[in-house]
Amino acid sequence: MGAPPVAHESNDQIRSVAEVLSATLSTSAVRHILAEHSPDATGHCRGCRFPTTAAPVWPCRLWEIGKEMERLREPRTRR
Ligand SMILES: [Zn+2]
Repeated sequence: MGAPPVAHESNDQIRSVAEVLSATLSTSAVRHILAEHSPDATGHCRGCRFPTTAAPVWPCRLWEIGKEMERLREPRTRR
């Protein structure tokens, strides 16, 4: 049996953004994004700290996109 459908309304959007970005970004750039957007001790994203806004709770949108890009590059991805 497959995994149950996850109620994740933005999944398709993340997927399409990741597909576009993965064509232009190198593997090391993707790794860099994933490394920067990691959770801090309070569970907020380290890479999304802006002076004017509060850091979002991790995983942030960018990390999810980065993760999806990594998944798209995975050579053993089944189609
Ligand atoms: Zn982030």
